[in-house]
Amino acid sequence: MSAPQPLIVNAALTGMVPTRADNADVPLTPEEIAADAERCVLAGASIVHLHARDTDGSATYRKDVYAEIVLRVRERCPDVVVCVSTSGRVFKSFEERAEVLDLEGDLKPELASLTLGSLNFPKQASVNEPEMIRRLAERMAERGIVPELEVFDVGMLDTAAYLVERGVLRPPLYVNLLLGSLGTLSATPFNLALLVEKLPPRMTWAAAGIGRFQFPVNTLAIAMGGHVRVGLEDNLWLDVEKTRPATNLALVERLVRVATAMEREIATPAEARELIGLPPRSAG
Ligand code: ZN
Repeated sequence: MSAPQPLIVNAALTGMVPTRADNADVPLTPEEIAADAERCVLAGASIVHLHARDTDGSATYRKDVYAEIVLRVRERCPDVVVCVSTSGRVFKSFEERAEVLDLEGDLKPELASLTLGSLNFPKQASVNEPEMIRRLAERMAERGIVPELEVFDVGMLDTAAYLVERGVLRPPLYVNLLLGSLGTLSATPFNLALLVEKLPPRMTWAAAGIGRFQFPVNTLAIAMGGHVRVGLEDNLWLDVEKTRPATNLALVERLVRVATAMEREIATPAEARELIGLPPRSAG
């Protein structure tokens, strides 16, 4: 058995949903997000998965808010891989969802989320029609942005394979397998193994668990040689009983300890780019 790849830790810092009432440390403003990104990168994160919020804390798709976040993140951590969201959970039109993909120059994201089907979250639907998926994938390809594919169910991997076959998705490919959200595939070792077995060839995979499933799913992925997505977007607590509020830093540090104990090296941003197949970032 060859040595496993260095572990790519993708820190999903903010999400669309968590509020200060849910967790006092969820970063919401561009400055808070950048400061938290820096802490997580110093602890071992090589990708930051960013969401933008308005001044009142609600989710926004606006490019100018993303621009400020990316600018501040790049100032504090010039090397980190920057991923943005094109989520349709709140914003429904293609123009809104794709606006962030138009950022230019140093503000252009390297990765952008692309959910490969429609699903129910516990309290709302996330609708991703075939045409929307195709258009977002094509806009990303035009812009030289690699999709962070989001898979919540088995059929979404069939969709991935179909889109690869049609040339809509082209390597490099990076996928997050998200388990344990009520309404989609549950977080069991069997389900994760099933998804990994079905991956199209040459796809870098990471696994994420929602809520209390985050830690077990992340550790399964580390043991299986995959990569991880972790952070307050998906989970607000360090313990199952919900007595210890998490921070993004504590979540990243805990996984780095587990990975180190299991003899997985932690990927630097440059190594993460190489593993995923992203072009290197020359200047700081
Ligand atoms: Zn997200």
